[in-house]
Amino acid sequence: MNAAPAIETHALTKVYGVKTAVDRLDLRVEQGEVFGFLGPNGAGKTTTIKMLLNLVTPTGGEAHLFGLPPTDTSSRTRVGFLPEHFRFHDWLTAVEFLQLHGELCRLSREVIRERIPLLLERVGLAEFAGHPLRTFSKGMLQRVGLAQALVNDPLLVILDEPTSGLDPVGRRLVRDLIHELRQEGKSVFLNSHLLSEVEITCDRVAFVKHGHVLETRSLQGLQAGELRVVVRTSGLPPTLDGMERFGRLVQREGDTLTLAVKDEEQLPRLNRFLVSKGVDVYALTPQRSSLEEQFLQIIGTDGGL
Ligand code: ATP
Repeated sequence: MNAAPAIETHALTKVYGVKTAVDRLDLRVEQGEVFGFLGPNGAGKTTTIKMLLNLVTPTGGEAHLFGLPPTDTSSRTRVGFLPEHFRFHDWLTAVEFLQLHGELCRLSREVIRERIPLLLERVGLAEFAGHPLRTFSKGMLQRVGLAQALVNDPLLVILDEPTSGLDPVGRRLVRDLIHELRQEGKSVFLNSHLLSEVEITCDRVAFVKHGHVLETRSLQGLQAGELRVVVRTSGLPPTLDGMERFGRLVQREGDTLTLAVKDEEQLPRLNRFLVSKGVDVYALTPQRSSLEEQFLQIIGTDGGL
């Protein structure tokens, strides 16, 4: 397998008439990475995905999947895709539906026969294998759609709003599935408005607005639960040796410090340390910057419309 990124775009652009849906978009998703693609409604996320899959032709720039342009059919042999609005063949049973998609992926009959029960088990639908899709609930359809996205054992799975319509059990299943895919070394490209889900599943996120990536951030710090704490003191000397063992100094304004500490356990320790150095502590206020706060900070509250 080559080491080319799972997804790479340079100045990717799509203009519909007078509307620029995607505007010189630069993106790089490494193999084995779980990547969140975040942005307000109409930011160009779905259009970007469609260009990656050769469903929409770009008006500018370029895209590559594992080093191959989307116009090369073989670029998609390694990709699984769950669209936001999947049109299901509701007269087919779950097994027939997955067989059809296996055949569309040109898998052999043996592989299809072997893989389908495993996939249905994986998405919690084993007992509904022979039921027609028209009898499925919205959540069950979403699950069979996920099984469809995995039918060709892809190296990259593109999920457009995979948890929409799912109850908490279904959302948990998607989260577990993404964790499993990461452990198998697969890449996941996740487009979701459910930031709490993104926060716990993604390694990195890109914030996109008006079709352009504003910022890409690693969520490693957040996943580890990095905690910011504001400490209001009096009598703080200009430097205080030993404080670095509690966390990283983010900012100091007079006698008020902002520190990034690794967990809550550090707070009483830090307090005792400051007091032992003759510093009066008036307040020690933990602050967690959620992904939602970051989103609003970067994207703004006006959305992208
Ligand atoms: P959402 O989060 O609401 O799904 P999105 O980020 O996926 O939004 P897109 O669906 O990619 O956004 O749409 C980006 C912009 O391009 C929107 O303004 C949309 O109206 C416009 N657009 C999308 N498809 C077309 C089309 N076929 N013709 C004209 N305009 C389009």
